[in-house]
Amino acid sequence: MTYWLFKISDQDSYPDRPGSEYVYNNTHSVRVAGGDEFIYLKKRRTQYGLAGAGRVSRVTERSTDGRERRTPKVSRLFTAHLSDVVWFPRLFDLSARTKAGRRNRVLMGLPGDLNSIGWSISMPRIERDLFVHLLDAALDSSFQVRTPAAQMNEADWRVDDAWSLVKRRSRMRAFRAIVLSRHEHTCVVCGTQLRSVLDAAHIRSYSSDKSQRANPANGICLCSYCHAAYDFGDITILPDGGLKCSGDVHDEIALKHFTAVSPQDRRRWLLGIENQFLLDHLTESPIKRLETGKSDKGLRN
Ligand SMILES: [Zn+2]
Repeated sequence: MTYWLFKISDQDSYPDRPGSEYVYNNTHSVRVAGGDEFIYLKKRRTQYGLAGAGRVSRVTERSTDGRERRTPKVSRLFTAHLSDVVWFPRLFDLSARTKAGRRNRVLMGLPGDLNSIGWSISMPRIERDLFVHLLDAALDSSFQVRTPAAQMNEADWRVDDAWSLVKRRSRMRAFRAIVLSRHEHTCVVCGTQLRSVLDAAHIRSYSSDKSQRANPANGICLCSYCHAAYDFGDITILPDGGLKCSGDVHDEIALKHFTAVSPQDRRRWLLGIENQFLLDHLTESPIKRLETGKSDKGLRN
């Protein structure tokens, strides 16, 4: 599977149908294939940024007619048929001329001159890690909670492995936004509000139940430290706000970390969580998790 930036610009040689077809010719040395995923890079006048993303369902090709043969080398036209397209509500600015664009470039680890990494061509290929990084940042920056948890029905909570990365991650971004804002951006175990370390964690693990992956009632705001300890079974949270620490934890720093918040404060932050998920986590033995080495790291969304 390959990851692409598809450029939308004023100089497009062949008419695209944004959101459904992306057209290119044989002078590109690269080939797009069904299953590939892409992010739209919009380049218009002073605008330069990420506008949306999706998946290529299939690619068709045909010979060019005389009018389409812009140069003698152009003999074939390819059409990438697109699916699962998500338009970001707001352009994720990567312009070199704006403050936001320059800031986003630094945050994404991109150089000041994007041509130096090959972004001057109409469809540069990018690494999966960069693709995910850009996609998440664009979704986070533009995502507003438009679907209150109460309006989501059960079918909306399912997230399939077969879905495109774009579809899965945009769905999980909704989950994340709801869970973090519901808990006032506070780790419900230790109380930290440092945004850079906060996760929307799953109570019933992401890998074990596809039907509850996007259910906000199965989500809990934890910092990375408490998240790892929770997934591992070192700690578990009770519906009344109490915290249960495994007898295996003797580390002083960890114990100090886990007792920084009172059960009363914690109970207030548990609003919106389904008790059954918390109770299931409690009854699933940490020792069993240790023995099977089961961990959700890297599989969260
Ligand atoms: Zn924490």
